[in-house]
This record gives sequence, structure tokens and C-alpha cells, in this order.
Amino acid sequence: SEDPVQDHRPRLLIMGLRRSGKSSIQKVVFHKMAANETLFLESTNKIIKENITSFIDFQVWDFPGQIDYFDTATYDSDVIFGEYGALIFVIDAQDDYIEALNRLHQTVLRAHERNKNLTFEVFIHKVDALSDEFKIDTQRDIQQRTTDELADVGLESIPLSFYLTSIYDHSIFEAFSKVIQKLIPQLPTLENLLNILCANSGIEKAFLFDVNSKIYIATDSSPVDMQTYEICSDMIDVIIDISEIYGRTTSFYQINDEIYGDDQTQVETNGKAGGDYGTTTDTANDAASLIKLNNGMVLCLRGVNRFLALVCLLRSDNFEKHGLIDYNFQCFKQAIADVFELKRRSAERLRHERMR
Ligand code: GDP
Repeated sequence: SEDPVQDHRPRLLIMGLRRSGKSSIQKVVFHKMAANETLFLESTNKIIKENITSFIDFQVWDFPGQIDYFDTATYDSDVIFGEYGALIFVIDAQDDYIEALNRLHQTVLRAHERNKNLTFEVFIHKVDALSDEFKIDTQRDIQQRTTDELADVGLESIPLSFYLTSIYDHSIFEAFSKVIQKLIPQLPTLENLLNILCANSGIEKAFLFDVNSKIYIATDSSPVDMQTYEICSDMIDVIIDISEIYGRTTSFYQINDEIYGDDQTQVETNGKAGGDYGTTTDTANDAASLIKLNNGMVLCLRGVNRFLALVCLLRSDNFEKHGLIDYNFQCFKQAIADVFELKRRSAERLRHERMR
């Protein structure tokens, strides 16, 4: 493939018992379905392998409860677990989870045997209905039981991470962001580039987003606060909505949006704004938008490549020098392209060596 980003999409495999919430997670994160619409999703009876047009190569392997995927005659576990990536196991925290833990245990053993490089990520899911105290107790209990069982078979060294998730808030996106970041070898470089960009442009916080899923793949090293993250990820939705409604011709909008306060809030997008985000064309690279918030801050979005966009929060005084910011941003964009280009070249070299 010619595309440097396409070649290195991190792979995610999602598993769990029936009704644990796998399809809902997929619909909400990758198809923008509203959380309450998932109530009417039909239960799946087959393995769903879906490729998603995004920086992330996300595959849902939905193993309905009645199918035994350890039956080697039916499922080839080398195919299932063979590739580099993360295995996400979803546990319904509102239900009795003993059976799910058994399944998790078997899955980890089986998968680890095939592929020592897989990372295991346990989503303790549907926690929206639990009290804070109960959430913590549940996580502690699940974590304890899982590690005890692995220790019993001498495999306590397999690293498992646990996340409390729900499709009714941003926790599912936050968990995905953490999972994805572990799979990006260039992460330290990306963070460094974001730090430099922020320091030289008076930016308070910057996120590099996978536009299609709103998962952030990197951010600068200042602490992430939930509100900033939410407003930045909401911006992507606003820009996509506006560009879907108004297309590419209108370049200035005045919106009155409850998220962003009063009618002082302004959104500007350039002629080529986000209309192509959902598609695979390259034009989204040039997307640029600006939202002036009524608290003296500015939200600024710039397309980086066909999957990624940068969303920054900065004081509007600092935005006065936006020529400098634009220049710094062009340097940043070039650096990102170089990072992925290098990665592609080394992967090609590896392939050539293997073929010899
Ligand atoms: P799957 O069989 O694993 O794909 O499970 P589904 O995605 O079909 O989900 C089963 C049910 O769980 C659906 O009714 C969803 O609405 C519900 N569900 C999924 N995620 C959540 C969540 O985060 N919170 C709550 N309360 N319900 C959820």
C-alpha cells in the first residue's frame, strides 16, 4: 500500500459474552449511534469482522454465547489471535460476572499461548448504573479474581489492564484512547511534537484525534481534564454536523449552541472543512475550523491527514498571532507525516528481508 498511515493501523479485537455490550460499543464509538438506540440492537449470532475507515483497524469478533471458539475445528486461533494488537474483553458489570471471568481466563490463556505480544484490556462495562463505591468494589473484585486465577497457573506475568466503561458517557472513548496509545510505537515522538507545538504557539491543550471515532491517539503532557477533553471531542461532532448540513460553500457560521454558551459563540470553517471526514479521500487534510467560546478561549481544529485531526484549546489573545500558529501547525503536520513515513519504510525493509 502507498499509504503510510494505512499500513500501521493498530488492531483491536473485541470479545465477551453475549449481551455484554460489544455491538453497542462498536456502534457508539465507530458509527455515532446514540447510546439509548443500542437498546434495540439485535443480538448477533456470528463472528463480525468489520473493518473501519479510521486510523484504528478495529475488528469486532462477536462470539455469541453458544459458540465455543476454542473448538479448533471451527476457529483457527492463529488467525484470531495471531496479529499484533490488543484484545478487549467486555464484562457486563450489571450482571453476575462469574461466567464472564471464566471465559476471560480461558481466552487469555489461549491467546497468550498463540501470541505473546497481545495486550489484554478488560472493560468492566455498563457501570453507569452503579454507585461510585460499588464501581470501585466491582473493579477490585474482578481484578483480584483474575490475577489470582492467572497466578494459580503460573501466568501472573501476563499484563492485564482494567477500565470502568459505559457508552452513556465519555468513559468508553477514554478507555479506547488508552488502549490505542499502548499500540502506537511513535507515541513518545507524537507527544513530544505536541509539547513543542503547544509551547511555541501559546496553546493550553492539544489532542490528536482519530476523527472517525473521536478517540485521541496522543495529547501533550499537561494533565487531561475531562471537561477539556469533552469540549474538544464535541468540536469534531459540531464541525462534521455543520459541514454535512452546509457542505463546502459556506465559510462562516454563527451558531447558538447550548454546549458552547450564548450567541457570542462563532464557528468558522474554511471552504474545505470536514465534509470528507467520513470518506477516504485526502481533502480532509486541509480542514480548518475555529470556535470562539464565550469564556475568552478559542477551539481550533486542523486536519492532519485523512484519519487524524488536531484540536487545540487556547486563549483568544494568543490566537491574535495566528500566522505563527498556522506556520507552527504546518511544521507539526510535516513532522507527523515524517513519523509515519519512517515507520512505513522500516516495515517495508522488514518485509523485503523476510522475503529473501
Ligand atoms: P453484545 O451481544 O455483546 O453485542 O451486546 P449488545 O451490544 O447487543 O448490548 C446488549 C444490551 O446492553 C443492549 O440492550 C445495550 O443497550 C446494553 N448496553 C450496552 N452498553 C451499555 C452501557 O454502557 N450501559 C448500559 N446501561 N447498557 C448498555
